[in-house]
Amino acid sequence: MNNIEIIRQLETEQTADRASLVQLLDTLTQDEEELLRQRAQQTAQARFGSKIYIRGLIEISSYCKNDCFYCGIRRSNRNAVRYRLSAEQIVSSCDRGYALGFRTFVLQGGEDPYYTDERMCAVVREIKRRYPDCAVTLSLGERSAESLQRLWEAGADRYLLRHETAGKAHYERLHPPEMSYDNRVATLRLLKRIGYQTGAGFMVGSPYQTAENLADDLLFIKDLRPQMCGIGPFVPHSDTCFRDVPHGSLRTTLILLSVLRLMNPNILLPATTALGTIDARGREKGILHGANVVMPNLSPQEHRRDYSLYDNKICTGEEAAECLQCLKMRMRSIGYEITTDRGDYHE
Ligand code: SAH
Repeated sequence: MNNIEIIRQLETEQTADRASLVQLLDTLTQDEEELLRQRAQQTAQARFGSKIYIRGLIEISSYCKNDCFYCGIRRSNRNAVRYRLSAEQIVSSCDRGYALGFRTFVLQGGEDPYYTDERMCAVVREIKRRYPDCAVTLSLGERSAESLQRLWEAGADRYLLRHETAGKAHYERLHPPEMSYDNRVATLRLLKRIGYQTGAGFMVGSPYQTAENLADDLLFIKDLRPQMCGIGPFVPHSDTCFRDVPHGSLRTTLILLSVLRLMNPNILLPATTALGTIDARGREKGILHGANVVMPNLSPQEHRRDYSLYDNKICTGEEAAECLQCLKMRMRSIGYEITTDRGDYHE
């Protein structure tokens, strides 16, 4: 099949085989890319119109017990500045966000044992008590089945846990031996079984990644059927062993967003901060390639710089209101409008 036929097949059958996906990633021309982009944008517009969902991102802790080789807050990075927000700080970030129109709060952090089930469930309950009309999304890494069940019962609605890469051997080159690909995937499947709206996702251009790995990521998402998929370019962090690896390509990330949209028409697909970091208009381009979500930063300003997953991360200077204003303007500039709708997943 030629690339045009593969794009047509992605549109009509919402899938393609591994060899076709690899071919697309390796050989897509500019003209073919533009066709793919248009099909993906139309597919998103048919579902979401020109509405873009927003999620308020609250980065609750830069402590992490894990040691992912690519990540700036890995435990062995002695230069990382560590902070954690108190329950009161988390809830008051939500207060600020609610007043600005946010109806989804994403609580993300390193795997910080300080946040026991008791503490975390209390925070979730308090947010849901104050704002029963809001969705609470957690992104706290791998927790036990019991813990995830308790957080669900406390009222958490959604959980983001990127699989990072669908190749087990590749996963093992990016993570220390005590971390397990199988456990990551099993946790994702468990999250779906419990009832969470679940988000998986992967980095584009991470060290050692091949086009075959990316094709496997696409097929993994197709098989898992998560409600959300977060993808962004790998960006090096100067305190990690991958400091000299170039960041992931803008073009490849945009192509993958489009393919994901065609393979999973209803999926919630953010134009991520990492995409905005490698290109001044990266997030706008992401939307034009089929993304439909943005995640402005709601973290207290004094800690933003310290949630440093990679170098040059954007939005570390502004406050929440400024971040939101900036994104509203950016979306308007391409003919889209931010909506305060909760933005749940619909088939
Ligand atoms: N501890 C949580 C949250 C991790 S941070 C968890 O394990 O899920 C959120 C995401 O940032 C990660 O899933 C990873 O995909 C991304 N990330 C980390 N380091 C990065 C880097 N150097 N470049 C780009 N993305 C990175």
